[in-house]
Amino acid sequence: MTELVSTRIRTTAAKLGLPHLAEALTHYAQRADEAKMGYLDFLDLVLSEELAVREDRRFRTGLRTSKLPHHKTLDDYDFSFQPDLDPRKVKDLATLAFVEARANAALLGPPGVGKTHIAVALAVAACRAGYSVYFTSLDDMVSNLKAAEAAGRLSSKLGTYLRPGVLVIDEVGYEILERGEANLVFQVISKRYEKGSIILTSNKSFGEWGQVFADEVLATAILDRLLHHCDVISINGPSYRLKNRLRNIEQATEVA
Ligand code: ADP
Ligand code: MG
Repeated sequence: MTELVSTRIRTTAAKLGLPHLAEALTHYAQRADEAKMGYLDFLDLVLSEELAVREDRRFRTGLRTSKLPHHKTLDDYDFSFQPDLDPRKVKDLATLAFVEARANAALLGPPGVGKTHIAVALAVAACRAGYSVYFTSLDDMVSNLKAAEAAGRLSSKLGTYLRPGVLVIDEVGYEILERGEANLVFQVISKRYEKGSIILTSNKSFGEWGQVFADEVLATAILDRLLHHCDVISINGPSYRLKNRLRNIEQATEVA
C-alpha cells in the first residue's frame, strides 16, 4: 500500500466518522495479507469490525449517561439464594420483549432481595441492545421535577424522564409523597404510557400505593397506566445484604 493511498484512506475514514478504521488500517492490511483474503472477505472483515467498534462505543456512552449505580448483570445474580424466585421469569424479561413492546416491569419485595440488581441488569441489557436508558430513584425524580416546576422549567425537565427508551424508577414507596409530588409522578407515568418502558422497584405491594401517593384516586390512576402492560416479579426471600453481614459477624466471632 502506497503512502498516498493510506493517507487518502485515513482522511476518507475520518470524514465517514470511522476513526477506528483510520487507526487500524495497517493492522487490517496485515490480516488480509496473512489470511490471503479475497476482496469480499476483506470488506466483510472491515465493515463488521467497524460496526462492532461503533456499537461498543455507543454502549459505553449509553452506560455513562444512564446514571446506573453499577453495571451488574444477571450472571452476577445468584438465583439459588432466592429459591422462590423463578429464574425463567427474570430471563424472559432479559429477552427485552417488554421493552420492544413499550411495556413495563415491576420488581417488588423487601430490602436486599436484589430488586435494584435485577432492574440494573435489565437496563444494562437494554443499553447493550441499543435502547437509551436512564436510572433514577423515585425521590430524586420527584425532587428534580419539583425544583424545575418552581423554576418554571417543568416541561424541559420532564423530557429527562420521557425521552429514554427505558426509565428505571428505583425505590418507589420509601417516602410518602404529597399530592403535588404524586401528581408529578402521574405526569411521567401517563406520558410514558405505551410510549416507553418503565422498570420500577418497590418495597410496597400495589395495594399499599394509596398510602405512598397520599391519594387513592391518584394512586389508582398511576397504577392503571403502569399495570396495563406490566410484568410483575415479587421476590419474597431473605436479604442478600444481611447474608453477607451475618457471615462476616460469624467469621469475626470465630476469630475471636
Ligand atoms: P434491593 O434493591 O432489593 O434492596 P439490591 O439489588 O440493592 O437489593 O441488592 C443488595 C446487594 O446484594 C447488591 O449488592 C446486590 O448486587 C446483591 N444481591 C442481592 N441479591 C443477590 C443475589 N441473589 N445474588 C448476588 N447478589 C445479590
Ligand atoms: Mg434497591
